[in-house]
Amino acid sequence: MTRRAAAGEATDLNVRPAVQIAGLSKEFRRQDGSTVRAIDDVNLDVEQGEFVVLLGPSGCGKTTLLRTIAGLEQPDRGRIDIGGVTRYSSERNVAQPPEKRGISMIFQSYALWPHMSVFKNVAYPLQSRSRRLSRTQIKERVEGALTQVGIPELSAQYPSQLSGGQQQRVALARALVSQDELILFDEPLSNVDAKVREHLRIELASMQRALGFTAIFVTHDQTEAMELASRIAVVDRGRVAQFGTPHEIYHRPASRYVAKFIGAINEIEGRVIEAEGGRVVVDTPHGRVVSTQPAPGLAVGDEAVALWRPERGHADAIEPDRVNRWRATVETAMFVGSHTEFALRTGDLEARLWSPRAESITAGEQIWVSAEPSDVLVLPREDSTGVQTAEV
Ligand code: ADP
Ligand code: MG
Repeated sequence: MTRRAAAGEATDLNVRPAVQIAGLSKEFRRQDGSTVRAIDDVNLDVEQGEFVVLLGPSGCGKTTLLRTIAGLEQPDRGRIDIGGVTRYSSERNVAQPPEKRGISMIFQSYALWPHMSVFKNVAYPLQSRSRRLSRTQIKERVEGALTQVGIPELSAQYPSQLSGGQQQRVALARALVSQDELILFDEPLSNVDAKVREHLRIELASMQRALGFTAIFVTHDQTEAMELASRIAVVDRGRVAQFGTPHEIYHRPASRYVAKFIGAINEIEGRVIEAEGGRVVVDTPHGRVVSTQPAPGLAVGDEAVALWRPERGHADAIEPDRVNRWRATVETAMFVGSHTEFALRTGDLEARLWSPRAESITAGEQIWVSAEPSDVLVLPREDSTGVQTAEV
């Protein structure tokens, strides 16, 4: 889709972000009189054509953030620009209604009208009087949208006669028919079973690339986020804990919360005893841990946590020549085809290790576990009580 620039608008369309959110906050009052900060000072820039995923556990504020972008929810403070135009600003007292924002939204349930055919469902957003489209124009647009999503032959069907995947395509066609450049998705795949979901994800990602719209997609599923996103915003209690590519989020988590939310990770708490030239040593009850991937600003004396991913560890029968190594007991060894998953114990420390080459090691054995300094992250310890894991 191409942006339809109005006269006088800035023409540098590739540079201007599709969505710009600054200092956005929203509180709700609960029935018992307490308040909850659903969105807490959020800043977020989404580029045109990007696929941004808002990822976080249930109740962290994802839906509220999406609804404020759409104009379905009024924030308390902050600014929302879409396509370079201010749609909401507490300072300037601007609050554009949803229909003026040029956004389509796809909900969890798809929200198709059961008594309308596919054609009528898709045509629905075009029928408002303000659009002044002729019947022929509407027919052309609807058929065009159904063709774009690959289901022109289903035009006369009713939603109950469609599979989950076909319903998703109808919902997408209904979003595309308005030719909005921004489409918001609120967990649209959470009601379909795992196999279909995987398939729909791949389809959605390729359609988004082919059609070029900007997507903001909400999910609590980290795998879904990793697969779909050009960038992921990890949301923690109304705040953006980190905004980055899946690679950055996974390999360079900005906090312990992010590290634990995305994928499995091993951790040992301790205190920094050396910090020099991008290398730190953490003293822990389980010995010293050396890392060449410390968070910036860590200093001697700081409470810290050393973290490493299960697939970055090594399992050996004989003592390895690595600085970070522990003697451990294999509690369980699960061969899953591509690798073996070990649950290990050393004293009161539990660790996980996934190895593609350690099939001969079995439960009950004593082994050596080790990790390279370049595979160990060190982050400030921070309060971990707020850490939640993804729900299933
Ligand atoms: P998510 O989509 O991440 O699950 P939500 O945005 O739906 O989270 O909710 C964020 C927080 O705001 C939750 O604590 C929720 O209970 C609260 N909340 C959402 N909507 C309302 C509302 N209309 N009234 C009161 N509290 C609300
Ligand atoms: Mg939600």
